[in-house]
Amino acid sequence: MKSSELSKLSICPSCDLLVDTQAHCRAGNVLICPRCKHTLARGRRARFSSQFALALTCLIMVTLANTYPLLSFTFLGIPSSANILRGTVLLLENGYYLVGFSVVLASFIAPILLFSLICYTSLSLSKGWKAPFLATALHFQDDLIHWSMIEVYIVSFLVALVKLVEYADIDLGYGLWCICITLLLSTRLIQRIEPAEYWERYVHIR
Ligand SMILES: [Zn+2]
Repeated sequence: MKSSELSKLSICPSCDLLVDTQAHCRAGNVLICPRCKHTLARGRRARFSSQFALALTCLIMVTLANTYPLLSFTFLGIPSSANILRGTVLLLENGYYLVGFSVVLASFIAPILLFSLICYTSLSLSKGWKAPFLATALHFQDDLIHWSMIEVYIVSFLVALVKLVEYADIDLGYGLWCICITLLLSTRLIQRIEPAEYWERYVHIR
């Protein structure tokens, strides 16, 4: 038997029978051992339309997070407010180019690109419509999922907040709540996305 054929087989944990998993375990199916009737796997039905809705909400939230202030504070009697884009401009103006570009990439470009790609591919696949450059979008989506760094951003923001509390009166802004909602929804979205499901559906609508 060839190694490619062996890789499609799995062993039933109940009776040790070799079962061909790839041939049977399609979306919506349950794979049952033909000898002992043990349930071996369940093929989940891909939920492209709900993934589209989640990605669209994340896209709106991350855009609002970048426009509304994260916090407003009063230092020496002077009120001020801060948002991500203004903070990035300050970093670049002061010569911190690497940090500035990293913040723009992690907080703005990468999440907006990722959520837009998921909206595009999920909508296209849920409608069974082969959109232009769909394969390229799926490749980029697979790569960008590993670059989602909103949680790192939140941790560094909280560290800065703890330091700032000692010197100024701080009010949390709408931008911070938008980031927290984005973080919760994007974690759920990324957990739900199975790249193999997207490619399988892509092959079927060609
Ligand atoms: Zn069995």
